[in-house]
Amino acid sequence: MQCKQATQLLSLRQERPLNRREKFSLQFHLMLCKGCRNFAAQVDSLRAISRGYAKGQPPSSDESESK
Ligand SMILES: [Zn+2]
Repeated sequence: MQCKQATQLLSLRQERPLNRREKFSLQFHLMLCKGCRNFAAQVDSLRAISRGYAKGQPPSSDESESK
């Protein structure tokens, strides 16, 4: 499996449960690939954020203030 497929499965996982084979190959890839592990963590936290988003404010990513 390549990173592209792994990331696709990670996104897909948000919409439906993966079947056994998909899960297995995804886990195998995550074991070997740090990049996709990071991506997996991001997907999870993004999901958590968007769930609690209704009451929250948008993240302040405004860095235009420099002297
Ligand atoms: Zn990867």
